[in-house]
Amino acid sequence: MDELREDCGIFGIWNNADAARLTYLGLYALQHRGQESAGIAISDGTKLYSYKQMGYVNDVFNEHVLSILHGKNAIGHVRYSTYGASELRNAQPFAVEYKNGSLAIAHNGNIVNYEAIRSRLEAEGSIFQSTMDTEVIVHLTAKAEGETIHDRLASALNELKGAYSIVLLTERELIAARDPYGFRPLVIGELNGSLVFASETCALDLIGAHYIRDVLAGEMIVVSGDSMRSYMFSNKTPRASQCVFEHIYFARPDSIIFGKSVYSIRTALGRILGMESGVEADMVVPVPDSGVPAAIGFSQQTGIPFQMALIRNHYVGRTFIQPHQTIRDFNVKVKLNPIAEIISGKRIIIIDDSIVRGTTSKTLVKMIRDAGAKEVHMRISSPPIDYSCYYGIDTPTRAELISSSHTVKEIEQFIGADSLRYMSIEGLRKVVGEDADNFCYACFTGDYPEPFELTKRDHQLILFDEGSLHG
Ligand code: AMP
Repeated sequence: MDELREDCGIFGIWNNADAARLTYLGLYALQHRGQESAGIAISDGTKLYSYKQMGYVNDVFNEHVLSILHGKNAIGHVRYSTYGASELRNAQPFAVEYKNGSLAIAHNGNIVNYEAIRSRLEAEGSIFQSTMDTEVIVHLTAKAEGETIHDRLASALNELKGAYSIVLLTERELIAARDPYGFRPLVIGELNGSLVFASETCALDLIGAHYIRDVLAGEMIVVSGDSMRSYMFSNKTPRASQCVFEHIYFARPDSIIFGKSVYSIRTALGRILGMESGVEADMVVPVPDSGVPAAIGFSQQTGIPFQMALIRNHYVGRTFIQPHQTIRDFNVKVKLNPIAEIISGKRIIIIDDSIVRGTTSKTLVKMIRDAGAKEVHMRISSPPIDYSCYYGIDTPTRAELISSSHTVKEIEQFIGADSLRYMSIEGLRKVVGEDADNFCYACFTGDYPEPFELTKRDHQLILFDEGSLHG
């Protein structure tokens, strides 16, 4: 179900005359977190204006669109879902008008008890516009008792299970909050007196804002007028469960998330991997881009030279025209091509951050052998992904995860490598260091921080729009 497979990026800015453009730029920097739709909601102090479309940030927004988005306070969202209907109604920010005015919300993460809450609200007569978990936050907030928007939002959030980093905008307030587990990142920055919120610091860097701190797990920050107030809203105080896969794969390496540099974590993973499973070889080759920092670390640790012998085509979008005739391994080939002159006759170590279904590794090993490699060793800078993520990283169902049903030896044979080694959980914990207990490793261990029952519903209303027809 697509709405349970969300990787998203969120952004917010308070009190800046250039709010629409800065939000556009913030989203542009967060494009890696979602390429399916983009949107901005903005407030001029009395009204909210919202615009969202399917597509990349740069395609969705242009001078004209930005010029009609009036106001000094804004939030934005980029969304990614991998299969199922990709519909405009599921794009964010999700904006509504209700008895207390209007509000817009942008959300990153997955609410695991969404279906149960939705069924309850529907039984009480609520009508839903989307098939997206975020909408229950809006309904619960609108129905909640409480004097202020943050009281009502707190009461809504306390009904949720799962992952949510959110920014919410009303005509007069901007609110940022993170679930009590702190699954997904959310940072606070400052730009010439304007407060900024973003999924990752790379968005702050682009607009020249400086990083202040993270929004804490279970914290709600309410900005209005000249004031910023912080509340610990949660009635739970669970063990922090920051997503370790953000560091391994998802976040941009130039970001600082959960208080640590993503690049430093990835190179350290490579060094530990080199210590744990070094092998005699002529060169270390990353699978670009995500394998590059780990390959640098691996090379530093083992002294084996680093070579960019696999080249990535950066311009492959989500939709490109496939050839009519069958070209073998086309889907990987269109993205990655080996340099035979460097590889021929050599013993190669390929470094990637993760194996999901195993198809990328299998194709790559073959491509590198075809380019003349004498030996191909695969090293992975994360432990085997044995379990699906329900908190916002797109991993397929368990049955599709190759390591949920195969041993490392079997996967080694499947991908056709001379050897395959993964990072150990202990090695991964060593790299995140003193914070190791504050991370979620459920995709590797199956130890989900919060027990839940997943229910699935078949949606009966399918809406086509331009985006879904082109997609
Ligand atoms: P697979 O062919 O299914 O084994 O995919 C492995 C590749 O997918 C690796 O190169 C990873 O960098 C990449 N990858 C890992 N997690 C994700 C994700 N959530 N979304 C997209 N790509 C991913």
